[in-house]
Amino acid sequence: MEELKQRICRDGKIRGSNEVLKVDSFLNHQMDVAFLQAIGQEFRRRFEGCQVDRILTIEASGIGIACLAAPSFDNAPVVFAKKNKTKNIAGDVYISTVESFTQGKRPYNIFVSKEFLKAGEKVLLIDDFLANGSALSALIDIVHQAGAEVVGAGIVIEKAFQPGGEIIRGKGVRVEALARIERMSEETGVVFCE
Ligand code: 5GP
Repeated sequence: MEELKQRICRDGKIRGSNEVLKVDSFLNHQMDVAFLQAIGQEFRRRFEGCQVDRILTIEASGIGIACLAAPSFDNAPVVFAKKNKTKNIAGDVYISTVESFTQGKRPYNIFVSKEFLKAGEKVLLIDDFLANGSALSALIDIVHQAGAEVVGAGIVIEKAFQPGGEIIRGKGVRVEALARIERMSEETGVVFCE
C-alpha cells in the first residue's frame, strides 16, 4: 500500500538497535482515523470474496485498527484478546501465551472469553505489526481451541527481516501485510520488500 509506505518513511522512527519501528503519529499512539479506514478497505480488497464472521485482534494497538476495518467487513464483530484476566472475563476462557516483543521479552498470557468465539466461525486476524509471529501464533492457537477457522491475517506492517511471516505462512495461514520491510536502520531508513 503505497500511501502507507510513504507514511512510514515520513513519520516512522527507528529505535532499539534498528529493530523497533515507532509509528506513534498515525498508528500506535495518535491514530489517523481516515487513514485507518483506508487501511481497513485495503484489507477488504485483499480478502475479497472471503467470508468473515468475526475479527480477532489483541490489545492494545490492534483494537483501533480492527474497529476501523470492521465496517469494510459488513460490521463483523471485533473481539480483542485481553492481556490480563480481569473479572470481566471470569469463567470459561481460551488461553494462550505470547512471547512479548515490546514488553521486555517476558512471556504473557492472553485470554478470550468462550462466549465471543464459536466453533465453525470464520475469523480474520488483524494486528499492527508482525515481527517474530508470537502474538499471531497465540491468536491462531485460540481460534483453533474454539474450533473456529482462520481466514487469514491482515497486518499493517510486517518486518520481513524477522521470522514471523515465514512461521505464520508455514502454518498454512494466509498473511496479507500492507507494508513489508526488508531492512531498516537509522542510517538507511526503511527499505521495503519488492
Ligand atoms: P511478534 O509477536 O510478531 O513478535 O510481535 C507482534 C507484536 O509486537 C505486535 O502486536 C506489536 O504490538 C509489537 N511489535 C513488534 N514489532 C514492533 C515494532 O517494530 N514496533 C512497534 N510499535 N510494535 C512492534
